[in-house]
Amino acid sequence: MKKVAKPGEEKTRSANNPVKLVIVGGGRGGRALVELLYNDPTVKIVGIADLNPKAPGMLLAKRLKIPHTADYRKLLRHDRVDIVMDVTKNPAIGRDIATIAPNAEVIGGYSARLMWDMVEARIKSREEIERLLIEYQSLYDLGLKLTASENPEKLYQTIVDYATSLTNTPAGSLTIFEEKRGEMSLAAVKGVSRRFSNKTRWKVRQGGLTSHILNQDQPLAVQDIKRHPKFDNPIMLREGIRSLIASPLKTEGRIVGILYVDDFKPRQFTTREISLLSLLSTFAAMAIEKTKLLESTRQLAITDELTGLYNHRHFRQQLNIEINRADRYGRSLSLMMIDIDYFKHYNDTNGHLKGNEVLKEVGRILKEISREVDIVARYGGEEFSIIMPETKRRRALALSERLRKRIASHKFENARKQPNKKLTVSVGAASYPESAGTAFDLIAEADKALYEAKRAGRNTVCVSRRKSRTTDRPPPHRLRQT
Ligand code: GH3
Ligand code: MG
Ligand code: MG
Repeated sequence: MKKVAKPGEEKTRSANNPVKLVIVGGGRGGRALVELLYNDPTVKIVGIADLNPKAPGMLLAKRLKIPHTADYRKLLRHDRVDIVMDVTKNPAIGRDIATIAPNAEVIGGYSARLMWDMVEARIKSREEIERLLIEYQSLYDLGLKLTASENPEKLYQTIVDYATSLTNTPAGSLTIFEEKRGEMSLAAVKGVSRRFSNKTRWKVRQGGLTSHILNQDQPLAVQDIKRHPKFDNPIMLREGIRSLIASPLKTEGRIVGILYVDDFKPRQFTTREISLLSLLSTFAAMAIEKTKLLESTRQLAITDELTGLYNHRHFRQQLNIEINRADRYGRSLSLMMIDIDYFKHYNDTNGHLKGNEVLKEVGRILKEISREVDIVARYGGEEFSIIMPETKRRRALALSERLRKRIASHKFENARKQPNKKLTVSVGAASYPESAGTAFDLIAEADKALYEAKRAGRNTVCVSRRKSRTTDRPPPHRLRQT
């Protein structure tokens, strides 16, 4: 089989004098050899042969413009083939090659197999490294995104998006634990129906599924929820979810929430997918804690401590924002100033602490009767203000009246001891742009209307009737009832 080299005739491999190689067999082995040797300057692949032109090695050779043929004999006739790699596992072919090319070295059987195994292992590890790089890159990106994100909603969605893409799952969700209420709330979803995202909060039951997950330190992978006694959750089953990884989010021993990735078919998750999700969960838990902290600091800075309403500073900021918005969209907005009548008297009669209780109660009522979009603030002392976007003067008048009546009919403690036998408020309202052209003027107009209401005997609503940008100022419209 092997030609014995005479002295001086020794083959020296070099780029100028490459070893001429023929590969017989274009299967996975042949393909691996082409891949391995194609870029090696000391080797010249004379050609590859396989009866099947669609064999992977043949297709690769075609792409690389390496001669490829069904008949290996044609290649072996090429002068001075040095090495033939026979990966056919067919002993008859091996013998035939040795006859046709007696001077070539034939590598076949186990040696060829060993070689392509090594090549495959190398390719695999390269793919592995590339995949790891992609994963690390995306975890790094995630880390950056998470630490930069200050808006909790955006953060929650980013976490779910990354979790599903890292584990290659079609759906996922994130639930956040609210310690005060002992409840879980759905914070973000991906790839599930509206019906699934309808149930947004639930109690954490001892012995239930959620507490089972939270008691774990590692992600819990479920290959088929139909075969898992704890996961007989009707909402998941109805959604068609069959497999999942549920990863508890914890930081410094505190429970933050649960991150889920779901698939609609049974699926055995790999250790890699599970550990990736576990790593991501660690980042996610820290980022969520951080944003929660930021958010609560931000809330503290804009909240009035006693009533829980917005404070004066936030009110002023929001008024400017809402006026700009009204300008941009050509809309109106109205402002209500509310002042408790004879509040000094209430304090003097019942004490400051009871007075505080009234302030809280009034705040609660104001919040209760306003819309979600309204900005309810404690303007200062016993004065409140409400910014009502998209509200014209007429409606502002009606709403103010409703508010006045609501307070007048509320049973405040010791209200009978007040000068007019109940606890009441006076309200002044003004609208933009109908009665003022700037935030400053709008407040001034509402204030004036409030002063009018007081002058008219209190428990009264007045609305500014001043026409914006005109010099004549008709007196405020007065409305007084008992
Ligand atoms: P009017 O009907 O004209 O509004 O009379 P009033 O007594 O309500 O008005 P005045 O402005 O004279 O008094 C407001 C009172 O509100 C005086 C002040 O002690 C009280 N007040 C302001 N802030 C607080 C607070 O935080 N808690 C309590 N309990 N009282 C407060
Ligand atoms: Mg006052
Ligand atoms: Mg007052």
